[in-house]
Amino acid sequence: MGAVDTVVDMGAAITMASGFYHAFEQDGLNQPIVATIGDSTFYHSGTAGLINAVYNGARFILVILDNLITAMTGMQPTPGIGIRADGSRGKSIPLERVVKGCGIDFIETIDPYDTKAMTAVLKKATKYVESPDGGIAVIIARHPCVIAYRGEAVSNPIPVIITDDCTECNFCLDRFECPALYHDEALGRTTINQALCVQCGVCLQVCPKGAIVRNAERGMRNAE
Ligand code: SF4
Ligand code: SF4
Repeated sequence: MGAVDTVVDMGAAITMASGFYHAFEQDGLNQPIVATIGDSTFYHSGTAGLINAVYNGARFILVILDNLITAMTGMQPTPGIGIRADGSRGKSIPLERVVKGCGIDFIETIDPYDTKAMTAVLKKATKYVESPDGGIAVIIARHPCVIAYRGEAVSNPIPVIITDDCTECNFCLDRFECPALYHDEALGRTTINQALCVQCGVCLQVCPKGAIVRNAERGMRNAE
């Protein structure tokens, strides 16, 4: 993905961010650092690195991508939802409490499908990280997995299309990167793979030309 500069292994984001911070600081550089980690990976191998980073005075933004499931390895439940792998109930251990227990003072939970709100929280976190009393800012970006919890994740399906206002600037392809958006070589234009599109409507917020719009015709048909 274009948004990610380094990938090593599950859980490495936090320790790498911590190392980057100290290396930049040693050289007198004020370089913004953003680490991302999945919710399951954070429970699995993120906490030790975060405690170490807090204890040693690192400063960066950590975004925990919380889809309420271990999607990558087979849809196992996470400790946050309080259901064990065999379906029985267990004690829920909320991410917010774990993060607070690691010594973090800045914790914000946000639905990343609201891109304006997400951007605002990132700016707020940046200010905190750079403030005299700042440290590590943790953002919990929570939205249910669209595969495991489709009805909850997309409670109001919004069919979308790309209009002729599209200038083929590639912003949505390079910077937003929804798997359903692609450049159709045969048509010579950016388009939407309707088989992959889950109709979440998030892309309506990202096109700078306003070329991604609701498909009113399909929306009406769906409403029948
Ligand atoms: S849909 Fe919008 S963002 Fe995507 S290529 Fe076209 S103009 Fe650019
Ligand atoms: S509606 Fe959602 S899934 Fe469909 S193209 Fe837009 S962002 Fe992707």
